[in-house]
Amino acid sequence: MKAPKFNYIKAETRQQALELLDQLGEEGRILAGGQSLMPTLNMRLSQPGTLIDINKVSGLGGITLEGNVVRIGAMTRHVEVANSPIIAEHLPLIAEAMQHVAHHAVRNRGTIGGSIALADPAAEMPACVLALGATLVVESVKGRREIAAEDYFKGLYETAREANELLVEILIPVEKLGDVSVFLELAQRHGDFAMAGLACVARVSNKTFEDLRLVYFGSEDKPTLGTGAIAAVVGRTWSADCKEAAANALANDLDPMTNLQGSAAMKLHLQKVLTGRALDAAIERAGAA
Ligand SMILES: Cc1cc2nc3c(=O)[nH]c(=O)nc-3n(C[C@H](O)[C@H](O)[C@H](O)COP(=O)(O)OP(=O)(O)OC[C@H]3O[C@@H](n4cnc5c(N)ncnc54)[C@H](O)[C@@H]3O)c2cc1C
Repeated sequence: MKAPKFNYIKAETRQQALELLDQLGEEGRILAGGQSLMPTLNMRLSQPGTLIDINKVSGLGGITLEGNVVRIGAMTRHVEVANSPIIAEHLPLIAEAMQHVAHHAVRNRGTIGGSIALADPAAEMPACVLALGATLVVESVKGRREIAAEDYFKGLYETAREANELLVEILIPVEKLGDVSVFLELAQRHGDFAMAGLACVARVSNKTFEDLRLVYFGSEDKPTLGTGAIAAVVGRTWSADCKEAAANALANDLDPMTNLQGSAAMKLHLQKVLTGRALDAAIERAGAA
């Protein structure tokens, strides 16, 4: 199938992109890497009136360390994130997760901002930014707005970003000294969207989880914090009983959707298995640190 007819405007400046978004409302759609948008146009799953290409707009890319926060511009390509020494040193969860994002060709064009703006429930970056307590920065003609990742993901492809807002940057606190992180995913083939996956950030002392964040993706309509599983583990010395308690609690945390990647029951089972593996790996990494 071919894409329906649409207008195309290459924005020269950030201000121009914001003005176009404001004027066009739901009819306007940002074109970043095009790796999700173009397939949905070709399949006629979306029919925006005008594409606003922001590839030539300056100031929307790059990765910098600013104090204890890593700032990633929305137009930073997945490949730049994957190869960044700043990410490798300060956000190892994202470095590990990037290895699972699509294939080289898609990573060369796709952007981190596109992934977070789209909020595909099986995508890796939304889960990582939620696990790391990131802030998403959006802009409109009215100004800049910061949204905590916990308030940003609302539902299936639904976020707190308004149609007239451009996602401009992602601010992520660095992983603290002594924290360990683990990223696990099960997909039918490497690089495919996840059937189930988990982003874990933990502080471990003497085989006891002092602090923990477990964010699940690929099973719900949005990345989901496993609050019950976390409560079942924090403060306890890691053991087989503890692992079982976390798996049992997960049944209340998650209400997976059945989709092409698998049934709800299978996804819940996979998430339980991944939880045990992730926590085992966190204990091992903390011991090796
Ligand atoms: C074969 C294939 C496999 C893939 N596998 C994976 C995978 O395993 N994991 C994964 O996470 N992704 C995967 N993807 C998707 C890929 O990572 C996309 O690049 C990404 O989801 C969207 O980024 P993009 O820059 O291409 O955005 P685009 O496709 O350009 O845009 C996506 C959506 O976000 C909006 N948007 C983009 N940027 C902004 C912005 N700055 N502000 C406001 N709105 C914006 C657009 O209007 C559009 O609605 C895959 C894609 C393909 C084709």
